[in-house]
Amino acid sequence: MKLIGKTAWITGASSGIGQATARLLAAEGADLVISARREERLQQLAQELRALGRQVCIAPADVANRQAMQQVGELIAAQGGVDILINNAGTMPISPIINGRVDEWEQMIDTNIKGVLYAINAVYPGMAERKQGHIVNISSIAARQTYPSAGVYAGTKHAVRAISETLRKEAIRYGVRVTDVQPGAVATELPDSIVHDKIRAAVKENMYAAEMPNLQAEDIANGILYAVTQPAHVDVSELLIRPMMQE
Ligand code: NDP
Repeated sequence: MKLIGKTAWITGASSGIGQATARLLAAEGADLVISARREERLQQLAQELRALGRQVCIAPADVANRQAMQQVGELIAAQGGVDILINNAGTMPISPIINGRVDEWEQMIDTNIKGVLYAINAVYPGMAERKQGHIVNISSIAARQTYPSAGVYAGTKHAVRAISETLRKEAIRYGVRVTDVQPGAVATELPDSIVHDKIRAAVKENMYAAEMPNLQAEDIANGILYAVTQPAHVDVSELLIRPMMQE
């Protein structure tokens, strides 16, 4: 087991990539702080992981709520801090920009960009003080490419990638490593967050189609585990992981 004695905070741990990563890091010996809005799912996951002998602290929070995220940060600091942050919570209610669905733009910006920054801010000071830590931001292949309807989502993920790279450079001298993980299509609940009916149906039909076997959440969790278990002199700065058939 590679993570005995380490504690990781995972946002968006109630499903998909976050949940799979919680399971894998716990199997490798890590204690966890798990966050999301659906508290009952966190309770179930905590029960499962505590049965492995791990300590699991549940910190339900909306990542877009600055005050709530500050409170999680205070809770974590009071418990001695975390070694690893998996900054994973995200949403994808995509639609054409020309449709002007401003509420959905704001939801993506608040969750995918501000939420990522609030989580960093909640743990970075403690990591810098202890001169060790690892922040893993989950951006996307959409941090490198975009297509019609994905403009605002891709904008948020380009932002996460830029934030990751900037933080990496700033944090070097404080002993804090930063990794930006860029998944391609992964079979999770993410497309269900698309509110626009036609776009949701099209995404499910095309992007998550049978001809392109998707990644599983565990495939991304494996990449994350690789990044967080390298020797101290190694920084895995970016990981782009896509389905074999995704262009
Ligand atoms: P899921 O929808 O399965 O998981 C999203 C997680 O984020 C859930 O646990 C959800 O929990 C949480 N979440 C969403 N909004 C909020 C919020 N406002 N506050 C707190 N938690 C929130 O999707 P994935 O596992 O696929 O997504 C994880 C990350 O991976 C996201 O950042 C996504 O953009 C990224 N990604 C996914 C890809 C894919 O193809 N699936 C491809 C590239 C990147 P709850 O609803 O309980 O709050």
